[in-house]
Amino acid sequence: MIPKLIIHGGAGLVESPEFTERQYEKALKGIIKETYSKLLKKGAREAVLYGVRLLEDNPLFNAGYGSRLQKDGRVRMSAAIMDSVSQKFSGVINVCNVRHPIDVANSLQRKRHTVLGGRGATEYARRQKMEYCSPLAPHRIKEHEERVKGETGTVGVVAIDSRGCICAGTSTGGVGYETPGRVSDSATVAGTYASKVCGVSCTGKGESIVNQAVAAKIVARVEDGVPLNVAVERLFKIARSKKLKFGLISLDAEGNAVVGNGYNSKVLYAKHYGQHIETFLKR
Ligand code: ASP
Repeated sequence: MIPKLIIHGGAGLVESPEFTERQYEKALKGIIKETYSKLLKKGAREAVLYGVRLLEDNPLFNAGYGSRLQKDGRVRMSAAIMDSVSQKFSGVINVCNVRHPIDVANSLQRKRHTVLGGRGATEYARRQKMEYCSPLAPHRIKEHEERVKGETGTVGVVAIDSRGCICAGTSTGGVGYETPGRVSDSATVAGTYASKVCGVSCTGKGESIVNQAVAAKIVARVEDGVPLNVAVERLFKIARSKKLKFGLISLDAEGNAVVGNGYNSKVLYAKHYGQHIETFLKR
């Protein structure tokens, strides 16, 4: 199996007027190259953690540092991870002031309770000595002052390694200016899911992703023998007809990488096939 990798930096077009599509493409290309080397050396799970951390550290993306602020001016972040070997979903919801929410989610794999939310999650992160970070980036503070209600923005990585392990991870700062405490799809099985047949990471309007149970539904269909591209297209036919704004990245056990775009949304993605890289900007 040639290791394959796909990453995303959110759906729904570029929402911050300061940044261009080219900047997103450049950032995604740099991150996918670095993450692919990690995939070759350390396997799918480590690569997903590494790739999501790089995306969380980059303020262009709405995750980790550079997350959008909720209505009360605070940043609350969510992340989840799952792989085909452990088949354990773990996630963190609305955690505050940590540099890498994906690490908090990952550490919960080994615990009795695998999903934590709110203040308990932040206290847990402190006890685990997760790196502290104030995620407030200047352009996000400006957006908040202008009361920009976003709809999209998240990061995700799906990888398959040489041994066939598939791993999916997602991290988000939410939609922006939402009611404090809103729960996004990212740390639910609708937003992130993986089994032996495929892995999925979603982005876009979380409420719609949850209503459609997107990631878990696609994995279940592929488990029932539907090819990944057909399972994705079936779901997005419905999404487009209902004007649902979300997208996803996915990868199956044969190494097929499929991107899904819903109504009026465009996933900012990069795929690494081992020899070449493809991005959302087709020239
Ligand atoms: N799904 C995220 C949320 O609803 C946002 C996004 O991915 O664009 O919070």
